[in-house]
Amino acid sequence: MRPPDPAVARRLCGHIDASPSPYHAAAHAEEILVAAGFTPVDRRRPWPPGPGRRLWREGGALVAWIDGPDHGPATGFRIVGAHTDSPNLRVKPRPDTASAGWRQLGVEVYGGVLLNSWLDRDLGLSGRVSLAPGDGDPGVTTRLVRIDRPILRVPQLAIHLHREIDSEGLKLDRQRHLAPVWGLGAGDEGAFRRLLAAELDVDPGRILAWDVMTHDTAPSRLVGPDEEFVSAPRIDNLASCFCAVETLAALDPDAPRPHRPAVALFDHEEVGSVSATGAAAPLLVELLERTVAAAGGGTDELHRTRADTVVVSADGAHATHPNYAERHEPEHRIAVNAGPVLKVNANQRYASDAVTSAVFLTACERADVPHQVFVNRTDLACGSTIGPTTAATVGVGVVDAGIPQLAMHSAREFAGSHDPGWFAAVLAAFYED
Ligand code: ZN
Repeated sequence: MRPPDPAVARRLCGHIDASPSPYHAAAHAEEILVAAGFTPVDRRRPWPPGPGRRLWREGGALVAWIDGPDHGPATGFRIVGAHTDSPNLRVKPRPDTASAGWRQLGVEVYGGVLLNSWLDRDLGLSGRVSLAPGDGDPGVTTRLVRIDRPILRVPQLAIHLHREIDSEGLKLDRQRHLAPVWGLGAGDEGAFRRLLAAELDVDPGRILAWDVMTHDTAPSRLVGPDEEFVSAPRIDNLASCFCAVETLAALDPDAPRPHRPAVALFDHEEVGSVSATGAAAPLLVELLERTVAAAGGGTDELHRTRADTVVVSADGAHATHPNYAERHEPEHRIAVNAGPVLKVNANQRYASDAVTSAVFLTACERADVPHQVFVNRTDLACGSTIGPTTAATVGVGVVDAGIPQLAMHSAREFAGSHDPGWFAAVLAAFYED
């Protein structure tokens, strides 16, 4: 068996901290790939012909691929897909509110948030801002913004004022109980806009719109007496994003391989993938069509390429929780630091089938990495991934797999420090398939 390599998990902590929003995740992935020799492509211009290592980034999405000298117009792809977004609190368009002498920010709940996990944490803000022309910019520009200072807090109600919490549990109203406090005084219309303007060093009047969200400012780290675990936000699904990106970046560009290796990072998985940068958009269809056309192929080559393509839909898996073991399927227990997890669901919440599962399992074998197989209890509703949407949108075989974790969708998640390195090794073997 391949020995564990916790250095991958340690680097993952840095990647996660560099990626508080999907936009930052895609930009950070681009940085890693460009440093490895990948060239950004402008989708608005003709596709570059001939071999090369290329990428494009759009908002919170990124697609990167290697076109080798040995690849023809009908050569399929080996694609690892993942998502850059995570559940969190997002700032409303008119966020400046106040209550009982406290200044607060109006927020919307994004995705399936474990609401309690955002209480009593030091929160920062990140995302992107659109600016009107000015300061030498002739047109509208969009800039990333990131505030790692702990400027927000959602304080929990004291137990003395909430005695029924023991008998009834914590019930949080999304509209009333999640607005972070960030100052004292009356409502101050424009305060949030001025904060963004100061961060970006522009006039507040230039700010047109924003996609800005909260993040936990505590750094990610390895924890446990032997650093066996990863404590971090957004393990779902930045762990998959960066295992895939690091693996693609490290491939020898000159080595011959039977298929074109690629990474596809999508936004908006946590809200159903239906957006221009989500997995329901035809981004991979575009990759296939334009690559085939640039290689001189037509419709027949396009369909041959599609039939020769396999996608690993990489996303977090549920490890068996020690305090809630009965919530898990008893014959499919999943442990952390026991290898990547193949995820199966007969109702197609995961896209794996016998044929695509075999692709993943043989990659584990070639990488000499242990694996596990997850299936949900059949009396509990199963989560989903970009897998089924990708399979239906692109018309290709997809297998769902990922590293096991606890506390999925908490502001702070928990995984094993051996699994990211093993998963990356399996993805490297998949790329050579
Ligand atoms: Zn996920």
